Amino acid sequence: MRLLLIVISSMLVAAQEPDWKAVDAEALHLLQRYLRIPSTNPPADTRAAAELFRAELAKVGLEAKLFAAGPNGQINLIARLPGRDKTKKPLVLMNHFDVVPVDRAAWSMDPFGGIIKDGSIWGRGALDMKGIGVMQLMAVITMKKYGIVPDRDIVLFATCDEESGGDLGVRWMLKNHAAELDAEYVLDEGGFGTRDVLQKGKLIFGISVAEKQPAWLRIRAKGTAAHGSQPIPDNANMTLLRAIEKAMAAPPSGKQHPVIAQMLAAAGGEMDSNKFTDAIQKNTLTLTTLKSGVGDPVKVNVIPSTAEATLDCRLLPGVNAEEFISEMRARINDPRVTVELITTIDDTPATSFTTPLFETLRRVIKQHHPTAEVTPMMVPYGTDSPKFRRKGLPAYGFTPMILTAPVLATMHSDEERIPIDQFQIGLRMMFDVIKSVF
Ligand SMILES: [Zn+2]
Repeated sequence: MRLLLIVISSMLVAAQEPDWKAVDAEALHLLQRYLRIPSTNPPADTRAAAELFRAELAKVGLEAKLFAAGPNGQINLIARLPGRDKTKKPLVLMNHFDVVPVDRAAWSMDPFGGIIKDGSIWGRGALDMKGIGVMQLMAVITMKKYGIVPDRDIVLFATCDEESGGDLGVRWMLKNHAAELDAEYVLDEGGFGTRDVLQKGKLIFGISVAEKQPAWLRIRAKGTAAHGSQPIPDNANMTLLRAIEKAMAAPPSGKQHPVIAQMLAAAGGEMDSNKFTDAIQKNTLTLTTLKSGVGDPVKVNVIPSTAEATLDCRLLPGVNAEEFISEMRARINDPRVTVELITTIDDTPATSFTTPLFETLRRVIKQHHPTAEVTPMMVPYGTDSPKFRRKGLPAYGFTPMILTAPVLATMHSDEERIPIDQFQIGLRMMFDVIKSVF
């Protein structure tokens, strides 16, 4: 009898502990298949991606709900892993199916091949954010498969159009199916672990709690159309160039954000200077497009009457966008030039970083990376998190991987990839988070 009890209890213990070797193999294979689906946005046709997730969830008896948000296959997905405590609102694990387009010629391999090479898995979306999507999916599937019931409901939420602002993704779901997303917390992409971005040689793990506000500007110059053979002072191209130069001449004003103070403390007082750390400490302007010329192909001997440029400006949280634009207009100070805001301004305050979930994330990170400094983080790029933060929900950017600056630079660029060992540790961290009580 006693022997039988020991056998039974050891079987129960065995049933509780996932076979990580098998889980890792399955997760990697799943990520390969996912990367082979070109869910490029535009057009954000995410039917095949949603079907992949739906089928994997069905294998363990979890039903996914699919929501068609647009006419061209834009699908959002929600699946719920029921938890024990029904008095607690769920944790939402949010990821996006869509990816940005590729410049195929700049890749050394098929960006939609799901290729494994040099210890990494390569492909558009590996980092942003199919890799994290699979960690979230596999963490949920593994819990279900091994009969581990989470403390609260875990809601897996995959969206179709994060890369074009979320109108058919998060915004559409919050407008049409808000009850599905009635939650206490959200985990999204954003922060990450690094040894070389914040301070060389120091392992710092950032959980993002804030991001900058995009304030995209269109600058248009008007002039006089004329023959290129005879230079004139009222050349719209020259007016535009001078306007851009004046707008970008001095660093736009901005004061230190409290989240930056936290990051500086984690880095021991000082962060390295690079494009990431520079961008999160001030308002930035980037000249991204220039449009000018008459005819197609454009004529070299015609001075056009208009020329325009766009500036991708990113403002620190709390900066008044109207004041910023006024400052730009005052700097340019030219009646021939108009400055127009082409994004909707949504200044979102930082999410609280003193919650039980933040402490759980900190604990899980330290458990897997004991030497890491964990800090709330500001990120320069945009995610879907502010849409929840504005509703008062803590939404954290949690990319549970230690990534090098060259790997991070592949986001939205060429040769996108993640190291397989980090993908595997990340999956385990995601699992440890959702099985915790917070
Ligand atoms: Zn993303």
